[in-house]
Amino acid sequence: MIATALTTVVLAVLAIGAALAAWQSRRWLAGRPATVGVVAGLRALPGRYLVDVHHVVGRTPFNARFHALVAGGFLAALVLLVAMGVAIGGSRILWLLLAVVLAVMLVGALMVRHRRRVLRPRELSQGRFSRLPLSLLGFSGSLLLVALDQSLGGVMPEALALALIAVAGVALADLVWGVWKGPLKHAVHGALHLAFHPRPARFHDGKGRDTGLKPLPLAPMGDNEPVALGVERPVDFAWNRLLGFDACVQCGRCETACPAYAAGLPLNPKKLVQDLVVAMDGQASDAAYAGNPHPGRGVGKAHGGAALPLIGADAMIHPDTLWSCTTCRACVQECPMMIEHVDAVVDLRRFQTLELGATPGKAAVMLEELRATDNPGGRALARRWDWAADLSLPRLPAGGSCDTLLWVGDGAFDLRVQRSLRALVLLLRRAGVEFAVLGDEELDCGDVARRLGDEATFQSLATRNVATLNARRLNRIVTADPHALHTLRNEYPAFGGNWTIVHHTALLLELITAGALTVTKPVGRSVTFHDPCYLGRYNGEIEAPRVLLDAIGVERREMLRSGLRSSCCGGGGGAPLTDVSGERRIPDVRMEHARETGASMVAVACPNCALMLEGVVGPRPEVAEIAELVLAATETAR
Ligand code: SF4
Ligand code: SF4
Repeated sequence: MIATALTTVVLAVLAIGAALAAWQSRRWLAGRPATVGVVAGLRALPGRYLVDVHHVVGRTPFNARFHALVAGGFLAALVLLVAMGVAIGGSRILWLLLAVVLAVMLVGALMVRHRRRVLRPRELSQGRFSRLPLSLLGFSGSLLLVALDQSLGGVMPEALALALIAVAGVALADLVWGVWKGPLKHAVHGALHLAFHPRPARFHDGKGRDTGLKPLPLAPMGDNEPVALGVERPVDFAWNRLLGFDACVQCGRCETACPAYAAGLPLNPKKLVQDLVVAMDGQASDAAYAGNPHPGRGVGKAHGGAALPLIGADAMIHPDTLWSCTTCRACVQECPMMIEHVDAVVDLRRFQTLELGATPGKAAVMLEELRATDNPGGRALARRWDWAADLSLPRLPAGGSCDTLLWVGDGAFDLRVQRSLRALVLLLRRAGVEFAVLGDEELDCGDVARRLGDEATFQSLATRNVATLNARRLNRIVTADPHALHTLRNEYPAFGGNWTIVHHTALLLELITAGALTVTKPVGRSVTFHDPCYLGRYNGEIEAPRVLLDAIGVERREMLRSGLRSSCCGGGGGAPLTDVSGERRIPDVRMEHARETGASMVAVACPNCALMLEGVVGPRPEVAEIAELVLAATETAR
């Protein structure tokens, strides 16, 4: 009787949950079609869950432990309950096993309660999330009493046992409701998102570091009606992206990592994802959101709907929020549900820029200059080489060949960047590297245009740069600009460009290791290294700059946020051009991290980082580009 009642309650609640989930999936299917490898995705799911998700969750071991206890105990309990349903009645052994797994789950539930009620991290959402410990404790605690009693022969009055089963049923119903609308969404939506992920190559079983920004078809294909470019309404996202947003468990890890949020700009990536989730419903409002809002913006004012524009002063997402993002991917790196915030931001920007021409601030002027002159400053391309007038840089003509092509990037117009480029050229000469440059035929790589949503200008630049490079034979391309490196390495292949691209830190390390450069004057200063987002997080290169710094004799100190979890300088994604104001500037926050190390110098390896961090006023560590340090350390070499 007890076993039958228990199994009936559990299966009935789960069946209702499954029906709700099916109804929920209609929301995703309203999105645009996407090509998804269903079988391959489902096959890859266990690996992605056990390796990639656990890699993120494991960064906070307490959380990893309670997840294992709660989820492991709960799933084992479900299996045993079904087994008991099949065996109609169960045996004392089965009841004892059930008691053991429920006890495991209860320990995990107590840890969840400790985290939510005692530790109370400020990034966690409250609201319906606050009920989670109660539901977990209600389910595991009540059934544990019943299971223990049954394993001992059933001395408890039957009415009490049925009452406990009813309590467990209510708690389970709340958990199932939480799968649909609350704290347990990640259990089902998260698993589906892992299987049908829009950027599968990001996982350990993928083929490498791809870019989520696939080329946008700019003209209608065949007889098709023209489709709006970018995303205007929730339904303009592909269905598996909508599914991805719905996997968000409101843990706030992205919020904690976001440099824009830290600087008080009106962007909280968690709220941004929740805005996208809520907007999928008709007559949407953010009034029920119970986490930290976008800084400076109250909750309850945003409205929208599945077929309504997402961006607008009173819409679900304010334009300032959209343009605050530096595309640094810190949120993507931290998200345990593998949500792709940056691709969503760029898709939204594409509509604003391409369809509405609503790019704000100096960004609009910059894009116009870029379209007219192929460089963002609107200057003649020949002026980019003024700094090298005395260096007689060899130009590589069409049909020519060289070992190493130096891609200088559009930073070469800037006096500060020219200093470090000069250092790099002197080092290449000193080491005997056979190199050349493209001269006036090197156009802007298109990185900023693409991040600002101007896919048309990006594609125009990419196509012409690929044609220029493919008309020459070269062994490798070296650049000191991680944005150019990422674009050439990961985004140009879609336009027919496939070359070996190396960052100058990797090349300089190679030259020192091979003995082509000799350290004669070790730097001997305390130095902290600021990882460029597009080198570290986007391309996984965090070791070479550090080994290089060690090789030239610095006393290296690490910032709290470093490597793949580094914080942005504020210079990416066109953010300096859209220039949304916050409580502080992002580079000021980053320099604060550097100051905390006590180092006398910050080493940078990106033109944007050099410009952003050198712009910080007040007492601060000196800023030096790594090539400049290497040049000084190897000054008197052969
Ligand atoms: S990419 Fe960077 S700036 Fe943009 S939302 Fe994510 S963490 Fe914030
Ligand atoms: S987007 Fe990811 S990291 Fe941010 S709150 Fe949601 S699940 Fe957590």
